[in-house]
Amino acid sequence: MEQNAIENKSVNGGCYCGRIEYQVQLPVKWCAHCHCTQCRHIQGAAFVTWFGVDKNNFGYLKGEQDVAWFDSSAKAQRGHCIHCGTPLFFLGENWPDEIHITRESCREDILQKPQLHVFYDRHVDYLKLHDELDKYGGPDGFTPINIPVPSGE
Ligand SMILES: [Zn+2]
Ligand SMILES: [Zn+2]
Repeated sequence: MEQNAIENKSVNGGCYCGRIEYQVQLPVKWCAHCHCTQCRHIQGAAFVTWFGVDKNNFGYLKGEQDVAWFDSSAKAQRGHCIHCGTPLFFLGENWPDEIHITRESCREDILQKPQLHVFYDRHVDYLKLHDELDKYGGPDGFTPINIPVPSGE
């Protein structure tokens, strides 16, 4: 799609019960799979796929008052629906201009496929990932790591 066509497109998302809806103006800045312990535990999932957008390109359509925020670390807050519990948002000190949004809370095509794995060295051992996306890890989760991609079974 042409860049200016992307810039005229917006997508909507929200929580499972429908009380919270947001709108994002494309393009998104990035999309990544996160394997950090916090994402896995808080969402009860093997990993979590996020996309990041400029805060100026994000807005609520409804339900802002139904978002519960909590400090998931000293430097980050996460927001979920107080009614259905759907994890939706992440705000981090390291990304002051961005809001991070759970990919699966958006039912539309965000025109950006996942590009990389972060905190990959903490990934669960019960799920085999065979993709060829770049893997990052280390103490900050964002250092390139050379974990060989399994050659298939
Ligand atoms: Zn909800
Ligand atoms: Zn994470």
